[in-house]
Amino acid sequence: MENSKQMRTWLDDMKLDHPLVIAGPCSAETEEQVLKIAHELKDSDVNYFRAGIWKPRTRPGMFEGVGAIGLKWLKKVKEETGMKTATEVANKAHVDLALEHDVDLLWIGARSTVSPFIMQEIADALEGTDKIVLVKNPINPDLSLWLGGIERLYTANIKNLGAIHRGFSTYEKTKYRNIPEWQLAIEFQNRFPDLPLINDPSHITGKRDMIFDVSQTALDLNFDGLMIETHYDPDNAWSDAAQQVTPTVLKQIMRDLKIRKETNSEEDYTKELSNLRAQIDVIDNQLLDILGKRMKTSDGIGALKKKKNVAVLQSTRWNEILGKMILEGESRGLSEEFVLKMFKAIHQESINHQEKIING
Ligand code: PEP
Ligand code: MN
Repeated sequence: MENSKQMRTWLDDMKLDHPLVIAGPCSAETEEQVLKIAHELKDSDVNYFRAGIWKPRTRPGMFEGVGAIGLKWLKKVKEETGMKTATEVANKAHVDLALEHDVDLLWIGARSTVSPFIMQEIADALEGTDKIVLVKNPINPDLSLWLGGIERLYTANIKNLGAIHRGFSTYEKTKYRNIPEWQLAIEFQNRFPDLPLINDPSHITGKRDMIFDVSQTALDLNFDGLMIETHYDPDNAWSDAAQQVTPTVLKQIMRDLKIRKETNSEEDYTKELSNLRAQIDVIDNQLLDILGKRMKTSDGIGALKKKKNVAVLQSTRWNEILGKMILEGESRGLSEEFVLKMFKAIHQESINHQEKIING
């Protein structure tokens, strides 16, 4: 598939002059809370007002959403502010109620996308709908599972589809709540270039002060929109307090983001260039991560050598590695000269690390 948009989608039909914005609280808490936030957002770039009605919580006993009554509040939002509405559905009962209350955009949460049974149940319940349906990535970094969920909806004749990238759960603690794995999102765009892809920096970061940077990276990587959790009193929100921003902050984020629009060929060039550069930045960071990991492993070997009183330099092993890597590099279009230089540098760094450990 070519990596250029060819089909018109529901998003093109909206003719926006900025990325799509979905904003509103993680959860609908009370009628007053929902309406107050909605009124604060109505004169902004926000296109869809979001609020979770049924909340998938990791542990029981936490706030699990207000349930169907919240759908009436969303209806009021539409009447009073003119904003369209969005909520998460996770089974047939949710779908039926959301359709009955005329919610405009439904999304499927990360914990539902992992389950083919749930995805099929939702697809069947939504069959033929002209509502917009967005599928969040599954909690684990499995592209097929994500694509499979979307295929089930497509097969159920649901045409106004899109996806939301909300990051992936990891065992390792990182600075993110859910690690973005940008490479996977880029691969997703290559597979489905015509499918609008929205970024959810709130669930990726888990922290409000990281939202701007992740949003900017997403726009640089050609994402079509953002979903940002917004609450007038974030610290006292009933769910996801640390990651919600106030409507004022949201508006400031929207003003500060650099948005690169497609209009003429000169801008096409700049846009394509900055998109490729953003991809390079992601890959360079991955290179550093992986080199850091390699040095940590090498430190482990250093400690072992120290314990067993073995010399740092093991020439036979090193020559074997080099020979293998030159061949591997060749098959990836890397010259022998480059592979040699790079591995010599890596090896030297490893030796420096191990010497520090053995002598230190
Ligand atoms: C949400 O959007 O509030 C939500 C529960 O998200 P996710 O499915 O990404 O965890
Ligand atoms: Mn949330």
